[in-house]
Amino acid sequence: MSDQPAEKFEFQAEIKQLLDIVIHSLYTEKEIFVRELVSNASDALEKLRHLQLTEKECFDDRLALEINVSTDDTARTITIQDYGIGMTKPELVENLGTIAHSGSKAFLDALKNGGEKNANLIGQFGVGFYSAFMVAESVTVYSHSWKSDETGHTWTSDGSGTYSVEEAEGLRRGTKIVVRLKEDCSEYSQASRVEALLKQYSSFVSFPILLNGTQINTVQALWLRSKDEIKEEEYTEFYKFQAHAYDTPLLRLHFSADAPLQINALLFVPEHNPEKFGMVRSEPAVALYCRKVLIDPSPKDLIPEWLRFLKGVVDSEDLPLHISRETMQDKALLDKLNKVLTKRFLRMLEEESSKRPDSYAKFYKEFGIFLKEGAATDYSYREPLMKLLRFESSFTEKGQTTTLADYVSRMATEQKEIYFLLGPNRETIESGPYLEGMKSRNLEVLFCFEPVDEYVMNNVREFDGKKLAAADRADVELSELDSQTTEGELSKETAEALAAWLKSTLGDKVSEVKVSKRLVDSPVVALNDDPMMTAHMRRMMKAMNPDSATPPIKVRMEINPRHAVLSHLEATRQSQPERASLIAEQLLDTALISAGLLEDPTPMVQRLYKLLAQA
Ligand code: ADP
Ligand code: MG
Repeated sequence: MSDQPAEKFEFQAEIKQLLDIVIHSLYTEKEIFVRELVSNASDALEKLRHLQLTEKECFDDRLALEINVSTDDTARTITIQDYGIGMTKPELVENLGTIAHSGSKAFLDALKNGGEKNANLIGQFGVGFYSAFMVAESVTVYSHSWKSDETGHTWTSDGSGTYSVEEAEGLRRGTKIVVRLKEDCSEYSQASRVEALLKQYSSFVSFPILLNGTQINTVQALWLRSKDEIKEEEYTEFYKFQAHAYDTPLLRLHFSADAPLQINALLFVPEHNPEKFGMVRSEPAVALYCRKVLIDPSPKDLIPEWLRFLKGVVDSEDLPLHISRETMQDKALLDKLNKVLTKRFLRMLEEESSKRPDSYAKFYKEFGIFLKEGAATDYSYREPLMKLLRFESSFTEKGQTTTLADYVSRMATEQKEIYFLLGPNRETIESGPYLEGMKSRNLEVLFCFEPVDEYVMNNVREFDGKKLAAADRADVELSELDSQTTEGELSKETAEALAAWLKSTLGDKVSEVKVSKRLVDSPVVALNDDPMMTAHMRRMMKAMNPDSATPPIKVRMEINPRHAVLSHLEATRQSQPERASLIAEQLLDTALISAGLLEDPTPMVQRLYKLLAQA
């Protein structure tokens, strides 16, 4: 040891909070700490292997790239040691004392979002290095950086708020972590127990792992093996190891190709959409390998943005080992890989949807939103993505969905457009005034329940040469109904006159008043005349900028000459013109409510009282 005294440090506040939870949690699968420490050792070796491609000088060169695990049940310790890149003093402080690690960060975010005191959260996120404190009385890290001009250090902590760092002499390159186990965790100092744990995932580590001097894994890359000889559990274990995940994947794609590039790929769809609760946006997580050597754990351009939920590995022999996104040639290679992966993945989804619709539905529930994002933003995959979308419609049962292709196959020859309506749920759309005109003409309408749907429909615009049209838009043309005159129906002339009177009474509040072809059961309807300012758009603008005035509403009003309310209005117009004006305004406001366009209900409430008082 040197004569420098040990220096004491406080953990960053977030880490203290994390450690407190980790240490006091009753999380049952404490064993995951072995996996976390081995995976850190493997990362460190991987980084060193990469550095050696470019760096000439490296401390303690020629050491074997392997991981040594040793157990001592008399001293009650387990030690994990690697000859990887190691850490300098500032790196020890930064990496083990502050929140640098994405898993820990996601864990803390989840806690803030109401998961407090839930020990099982640890199981869902993993807390990397800190998981050692679930089983440790104290943890000592010996580390020497790969940089020749550095000295070695020890880092020690019992996890209770502080740690100390001290210079150390005679260390080999890399990191050795000694975990002194708590009394009730002594099982992890027993060779047989640790061997069983290591065997579960050690075959996914691309470096030899030795337990007390004996190698226990044969290094083999799962993705290079043939599909028929891989067991389901092996895939799942690999996923968990590679993606640092704790769930069971929903879908998997394992394939190899030779043209236009040599590729072996193993991709997974996780069980849940991690962005579902508005948590952090997923970072790309499909790792790039060349002949089993990791090139980049999270390359940016390997898969499209809208596939960012995918996990797994892609291995291509055609890549240069230090690929750079900046050079044109490497960029072209990445683009080619990207194309192959995306096409294969979309084809797999297509197959899943036709052969295993239930499984596809489960996938779609979690990840459909990413397909929509892709359809709206990525022109090159719009067609295949649109085919994968699912909607409820006026022709399906509640909860059942249809594809756009099936919709088109049901269209009558005269029908030119694909109709859709936006709304929070089926009931709201069905009880609104927009569906009835479609229904009475036997026109199918797709129901869009998600807020992004409007954005998607506006961007996508058409499918299979047919325009996508919002059924509440004023410019949707509808055919004449074979009208049977109902009793009390206003004559054509009277209805036209009433419409003209309504326009002059309502003035600027409406762009036009027309006798409707679409109304069957409702007396009036307000149709949006401005496709860029839908109800949803207005709400968004209001939310983003509450103080600004939204542009005045411009709607076209349509009246139903068959409805009793209108014949009553016609009669009132002759006998009590003032009361008729009140009713006219009231009708407009009710139509605006149905359209989701009424901004200030106060005048309408006052008016209603007045009308009721007169009745
Ligand atoms: P993660 O591995 O996800 O980054 P961890 O909490 O497991 O998070 O580790 C935190 C950081 O500590 C790592 O990112 C790495 O920089 C450093 N580290 C941990 N173990 C080692 C090791 N054996 N060798 C070198 N650096 C390590
Ligand atoms: Mg880690």
